[in-house]
Amino acid sequence: MELDNIECISLSDGMEEEEATTHHHHPFSKPHGGNGNHTNILSPIPPATSVHELLECPVCTNSMYPPIHQCHNGHTLCSTCKSRVQNRCPTCRQELGDIRCLALEKVAESLELPCKYCSLGCPEIFPYYSKLKHEALCNFRPYNCPYAGSECSVVGDIPFLVSHLRDDHKVDMHTGSTFNHRYVKSNPKEVENATWMLTVFHCFGHYFCLHFEAFQLGMAPVYMAFLRFMGDDREARSFSYSLEVGANGRKLIWEGTPRSIRDSHRKVRDSHDGLIIQRNMALFFSGGDRKELKLRVTGRIWKDQQNPENGVCIPNLCS
Ligand SMILES: [Zn+2]
Ligand SMILES: [Zn+2]
Ligand SMILES: [Zn+2]
Ligand SMILES: [Zn+2]
Repeated sequence: MELDNIECISLSDGMEEEEATTHHHHPFSKPHGGNGNHTNILSPIPPATSVHELLECPVCTNSMYPPIHQCHNGHTLCSTCKSRVQNRCPTCRQELGDIRCLALEKVAESLELPCKYCSLGCPEIFPYYSKLKHEALCNFRPYNCPYAGSECSVVGDIPFLVSHLRDDHKVDMHTGSTFNHRYVKSNPKEVENATWMLTVFHCFGHYFCLHFEAFQLGMAPVYMAFLRFMGDDREARSFSYSLEVGANGRKLIWEGTPRSIRDSHRKVRDSHDGLIIQRNMALFFSGGDRKELKLRVTGRIWKDQQNPENGVCIPNLCS
């Protein structure tokens, strides 16, 4: 298969980027019209899109990976769909049997395809069967919504998620790299996975999520505050942050590196990578009759002088 037939290749050439993007937006998502061309796999020089269509499961429209199945009449389908259709070909309703479509698997093997996030900027091209593996880890893949405490399935790039957090989750947005937050809760005994607060900070041209919540750590109810970076892991490591909480002449200080939102909220929490305050201490910091939680958390985000890649000092351009 010639690489030139494949869309998104021209992304390496800046001049062509716009054109490539518009052409290639939906290379895999459109179900092909009609089943007649199934048998044309080996016809001379089919346009690249028809090979893509052949490798698209006619039932679920996902790309097919081995084992690719077919019925006695040659209708193909993916292994996920095969396990769902109870031995009936969804196209011709005949008995399905257990026939591999080796020819199509071989065609797939010979293909090289752009990463499916090429329209988001990924320039990489992969053999068909390596593509999935790359896409699961591609740096250009969309981010999951960082909001915790509800199942939110929204994905997108960072600017999109920032507006989503503001408009759909009604998250507080702040500008600046220092903060001073009060967390007040009238019944501090309720700690069952309660997510109380997410605040988004905008500084250094990036967005950060400050999480504050209560949960049960082993037997002990605790409060935890930590920061996540809205961007990838590599960039996250060029920032640091500190959190402080205290009262009555006592103070707890946490200093750390924000975690990328690629790491789930849950994963960060479960690795205890943040400021953890035992409930007794939190109530002590709250003062008063210990019936109400009133914590003042102050913090700061800064960009590190050190380049995390090689440890060499670089000028801090953002200060
Ligand atoms: Zn399928
Ligand atoms: Zn069939
Ligand atoms: Zn990619
Ligand atoms: Zn969301």
